[in-house]
Amino acid sequence: MHIKCDNFPNSLTHKFSLEYQTQQQNTNNIFVFHKGNVSDELHLLSNMLTIIISSTDKAIIGLELSDSLCEKHLRNIVLNILKSFKNDKNSNIYISVNKSYKEDLKYIIDIFKHIYIARKIAILPANIGTPDLIAKELKELFKGIKGVKKTYLTHKDLVKKKLNLICSIGDSAKNPPGMLLIEKKSKNPSAKTICFIGKGITFDSGGLSIKPIKSMMDMKYDKIGAIYSATCMKIILEDPLSSSYNIIGAFPLAENAVSDKAVRPGDVIVSHSGKTVEITDPDAEGRLVLADAISYVSKYKPSLIIDMATLTGHSEIINCFHKAYYYCNEDKMRRYIEKQSYNNGERMIAMPNWEEIPNVLTSPVADLTNLPRKCRDAYIASLFLKEFIPENADWIHFDLAHEVIDEMPKGHSIITVVDTVKEWMKK
Ligand SMILES: [Zn+2]
Repeated sequence: MHIKCDNFPNSLTHKFSLEYQTQQQNTNNIFVFHKGNVSDELHLLSNMLTIIISSTDKAIIGLELSDSLCEKHLRNIVLNILKSFKNDKNSNIYISVNKSYKEDLKYIIDIFKHIYIARKIAILPANIGTPDLIAKELKELFKGIKGVKKTYLTHKDLVKKKLNLICSIGDSAKNPPGMLLIEKKSKNPSAKTICFIGKGITFDSGGLSIKPIKSMMDMKYDKIGAIYSATCMKIILEDPLSSSYNIIGAFPLAENAVSDKAVRPGDVIVSHSGKTVEITDPDAEGRLVLADAISYVSKYKPSLIIDMATLTGHSEIINCFHKAYYYCNEDKMRRYIEKQSYNNGERMIAMPNWEEIPNVLTSPVADLTNLPRKCRDAYIASLFLKEFIPENADWIHFDLAHEVIDEMPKGHSIITVVDTVKEWMKK
């Protein structure tokens, strides 16, 4: 048996040999990453995945991801590796035998590392994970990537730039709102632009539409849209193909609190785009902060906008089994996401983009209402956001509300979003 795993971190290689020695006594040619506490780094990975590969004649793959929904993605990679052994009379496993497989494994392990970091930021409680601190944590993600410009728009900047919808929510809290901007410009002057947006509500009390405690207890997770979206952006920036594109991230961060500064139901706010919005429900705040962020990035003339958000309780009801819900205005990408999310084990349901759906966002006092009085569907949130999407931009919106009601966010959709953006870049 020949084993070479120079592709992995040292601690992991060390642990691997230990496991291998133990396993070898009972089973034939089995290769194991297993749970353990050898080091933080190993724990980081082992918390995410356990792979068992056997290259006996009838190959057996045992694979378990203790804390993630992405087992299918990994399984596909492992299957690909095994395919290379099908015609190999020698039943040894050479993990580093083929450069492309080596890259695949490295890729998936890298992604899991990113997901782990995203989850570490996600669990920060709201009294610590204020908008300022989350901005710092997200900035850290981009450390070491050359040519990245990081700007934090403070509350004062938001006011100056008329990002009034973000302020209408964030003004309610002691911890001021902000928006983190990450820009990486291509050297090619005619490069297309991809924008990543994410909802970063560090705590959602519901504002003056205060939530009952059962719905409020996990609301520190209402910021994961920003965290996941920034994570996807980081992974994309590591892909050499991204250098042909301008990659922009805008992550609005705010706390939705209850105070005498909180926006009242019925208040009318002039959004960054100039459209007026009647805020009938301050608990539908995610679409407000996203709308201003989307409007803000329209100056970059985006060809693709990806937004990620824990947006609507209704997406949980429709999906029933804690999976994501997405809207895509481009048919080819819409079909790609359907297929790819299934392959990745990240089940998603597409929202309709039928033209005959009536405009239900009307208000007697403003251009739009943030929540129609009668219709609270998850789809309505995407209709609202659509009002701010620049013409001709491809747009994909991911509603990850199910991640909030889980005890611990799983990093759901990150792999599919990364795959989708990579696919889009190829076209
Ligand atoms: Zn809310």
